[in-house]
Amino acid sequence: MSEPLYKKNIKQLIEKIDREYPDNSQFKQATHELINDIAAYIEQQEFNESEQRYYLEVLRILIEPDRVIQFRVDWEDDAGKFHSNRGFRVQFNNTLGPYKGGLRFTRNTNLDELMFLGFEQVFKNSLTGLPMGGAKGGSDFEPHGRSESEIRRFCQAFMTQLSHHIGPDRDIPAGDIGVGTREIGYMFHQYKTIKNQFRGVLTGKHPVFGGSCIREEATGYGCVYFAEHMMEALDNTLEGKKCGVSGAGNVAIYTAKKLIEKNSKVITLSDSKGVYVNEDGISNEELDAIIQARAKRIRLKDMKQLSGEYHKDKKPWHLKLDLAFPCATQNELDEEDAKSLVDNKAIAVIEGANMPCTDGAIQLLEKKGVVMGPSKAVNAGGVAVSGLEISQNRSRLSWEADQVDEKLKAIMKNIHTTCIDYGEKIGDKTNYRKAANIASFIKVAKAIEFSGLVPLPESH
Ligand code: NDP
Repeated sequence: MSEPLYKKNIKQLIEKIDREYPDNSQFKQATHELINDIAAYIEQQEFNESEQRYYLEVLRILIEPDRVIQFRVDWEDDAGKFHSNRGFRVQFNNTLGPYKGGLRFTRNTNLDELMFLGFEQVFKNSLTGLPMGGAKGGSDFEPHGRSESEIRRFCQAFMTQLSHHIGPDRDIPAGDIGVGTREIGYMFHQYKTIKNQFRGVLTGKHPVFGGSCIREEATGYGCVYFAEHMMEALDNTLEGKKCGVSGAGNVAIYTAKKLIEKNSKVITLSDSKGVYVNEDGISNEELDAIIQARAKRIRLKDMKQLSGEYHKDKKPWHLKLDLAFPCATQNELDEEDAKSLVDNKAIAVIEGANMPCTDGAIQLLEKKGVVMGPSKAVNAGGVAVSGLEISQNRSRLSWEADQVDEKLKAIMKNIHTTCIDYGEKIGDKTNYRKAANIASFIKVAKAIEFSGLVPLPESH
């Protein structure tokens, strides 16, 4: 029997991506994964040719960003020396709403990385149920080792350029790696100064000028709410579980905080230089000290008041863990790490960071029955509360922390239910990764269909 047409077209789509982005392994990983899951769905649901064509057309549109913006950022350091950095904004897709997604400042930030993050953001935002398109941006400026005034001057210079491309109905960035409440404050002020308008053009602002309560905590808290539902679905709980959290930034800290509240035992936090291990469980006091140190930009290895040990150049994944929460950066958990988690009988990997597991790690973990909580579902709480911040700014209201937390809980529960529903539909109830890909894609596909960009399928 000859190969069905859609299989040939799927192959061609993947070949096109590989041809156009030969060196962008992260974009290839993210797009291949989604395309392959949709191909499996087409096969499993036995769609007719018209429906197959419809899904392929949607995929063809979705792998192409709407717009890629690059600009130069000129700024002056404390010694009076001038520097130029690169700034980027990838406005990936605005079918569901204005572009929305974080800004990251790290030495290694580049367009390749932002392409995969922008692509992923489209589907994550779709899962939240809020009207937001997907985007991502940032700069190759490295805040580590820079003074506060240098960071402020850089943020102002960055926003001077970015302000031409964003707006409350166009694109509303937020923070990400290297960009927290303080940096957002510097950029928000610059936008106001340039435009002479007080508008909700950024989220993650401090609550004193329009930021939402618990936006800072939202990604980490949401991650734990999702993990709690995952454990329930497995007839288990978070209580007493030994958890490894990577990173010591925004997502990691609030993931750890909520896990401790749920009586889990968090034994690690980490950064790009190594891992901090406390086998007795990191206490609330230790966590507060880490939060304070972070505000002063002090690294884990330099903290004298911690009672555990710091292991240079090590990651958390080789310890005996029940649950792994990679919350630092993309592709931080590789196949070798996955093997160690499997050998140590880990129950689940819950992705707080964006695409923290390599493709090899995912294949191995899934094969060995470790349940995967995929980033686009798990860490959607951050952008969800950003969406709530937009609503508050538009109505010039500010909701109490409890109100926002309740809404966050409801959104995370809903995302989990959506994953379970789609998991059941594909006959693989706890394959959250596939379910999240299919559910988010179908919603964007509907919006693309209603925008008149693809032919309507003839239903069988
Ligand atoms: P932060 O800048 O607050 O923290 C990042 C942390 O990760 C730091 O501790 C950093 O250490 C560590 N890190 C960076 N690179 C590496 C590496 N190669 N190996 C080990 N550790 C590393 O960022 P966020 O917490 O905001 O973001 C973390 C992840 O979560 C990212 O993938 C981000 O895209 C994702 N995310 C964030 C959201 C948010 O609301 N902030 C929302 C959704 C997703 P060091 O200080 O040494 O660099």
